[in-house]
Amino acid sequence: MSGVVNASVSQAIDEEALIKWRRHLHMYPEISGAEKETSAYLAKELKAMGLKVKSNIAGYGLLAVLEGEPQKKCVALRADIDALPIEEGNEVEYRSRNRGCMHACGHDAHMTIALGVAKAMIQNPPGGTLKFIFQPREEKPPGGARDMVEAGVLKNPDVDVVLGQHVSPLYPAGTIALKNGTIFAVADDFHLTIKGRGGHGSSPHVTRDPIIVAAEAVVALQTIASRMNNPMEPLVITIGTIHGGTAQNIIPDRVEMTGTLRCLNNETRDIALAHMHEVLRGVTQAWGVEYQLNYLYGYPPVMNNVEITDVVRKVVQAKPELKLSEMKYSLLAGEDYAYYGQYAPSVYYLNGCGCEGENYPWHHRLFNIDEKCLKTGVEVMAETMYTIASEDK
Ligand SMILES: [Zn+2]
Ligand SMILES: [Zn+2]
Repeated sequence: MSGVVNASVSQAIDEEALIKWRRHLHMYPEISGAEKETSAYLAKELKAMGLKVKSNIAGYGLLAVLEGEPQKKCVALRADIDALPIEEGNEVEYRSRNRGCMHACGHDAHMTIALGVAKAMIQNPPGGTLKFIFQPREEKPPGGARDMVEAGVLKNPDVDVVLGQHVSPLYPAGTIALKNGTIFAVADDFHLTIKGRGGHGSSPHVTRDPIIVAAEAVVALQTIASRMNNPMEPLVITIGTIHGGTAQNIIPDRVEMTGTLRCLNNETRDIALAHMHEVLRGVTQAWGVEYQLNYLYGYPPVMNNVEITDVVRKVVQAKPELKLSEMKYSLLAGEDYAYYGQYAPSVYYLNGCGCEGENYPWHHRLFNIDEKCLKTGVEVMAETMYTIASEDK
C-alpha cells in the first residue's frame, strides 16, 4: 500500500445532509428481514447521486456501484441496515415512529456514513471501481452477510479490499478505535436438553433427576474454560437460561438450557465444543440420564488485515482533530461482517459515537449517538477508500 492520503476528498462533506439522512432512517427503523422501506429510501438516494443500484439482493440488500478503471483496486464498503425489536426510550424529535422498533445499534449511522462516502467519492473519484453494499439482517443469525457474498456482490468485478465500521458509544465522537488481527469474536449459541425420568420428589431413587445433573453440567461446562482451554486464549461459555420442573415435589423429566460460546478463533471453538460433548457425556452417563446438544454455529471472527488497518491508522493520524485509540482487546461480540473478510482482505474499526454525559450501550432503549460521528465516519472512510482505490491492482 502506498499510504498516500488525500485529505481533499472529505473537504466538501455536507454535515446537514448527513444529519437529515440519519434522522430519517432513525425515525423509520425496520427489524431484520423487513427492511423494505429502508432499502427503498437508500435506493432512491443512491440513484439520485447517479449511481447504478441493484435492489432486492438476499432480501432487501442493495449494491450501488461507481465504475472505475479495471487496473485499479476495486474497494467495497459495507453498511448494515436493520434495526432491533426495542421500544425507543429517547425523547427526541427524531424518535422512532415505528412502534417496538429502534435503531439501537447505530446502523442508521452506518447507512448515513456510507451514503456520505458515496457522495464524496462521486465528487472525487479515486480511479478504481467502488461498491457500496447495504446489507440486511445483521442482527439475526445466520445474518445477511453470507447471503450477500453468495449472491455475488464481491464479484464482477472482483473486490480487492472490503471496508466497514461500527459506531461505538464506548469512545467519544472524534475517536477511531483500531486493532490489528481479530477485532470481533466467534459468537455461537447452543440449546442443551438434559433428559431424565420424572417422579415423586420423595422418591428420587426411582427417578433419574435431570435437575441435579443440570446443576453438575453447568459447573462442569465452566470448568472447560478454566482447565481444558489454553489460558492465553480467551473463552467464555455462558449458560443464559435454565428451565426445569413445575412444582416443589415433582422431579421433572427434562431440563432445558440455552447458552453462548465466545472465543477469538475457530480452533479454540472446535476444542471447546469437543470438550462440551465429553463433559456432558460423562456427567449424564454417571447419573443415568441423556443429553442433547444443539450447537448453532454463529459468525466467524472478524480479522483485520494489518496493511489495510495501517491505511486507516495513517488517515486518522493525519487529522489532529481526531483521536486514535489502539484497542488492547478484541470484543467478544459477533459480527457477520466476518464473511466479507473470508473473501477479501478487510478492515473493521470502531467510530466513537459517545455523547457528552451519560451513554448507553448497544441494544439499549436509550442508545443514541453524538451526530458529530457522522462527519468523522465519512472523512475517515472516504479517505481510506480513496487511498486504496487509487492504487494499481
Ligand atoms: Zn447490534
Ligand atoms: Zn450492529
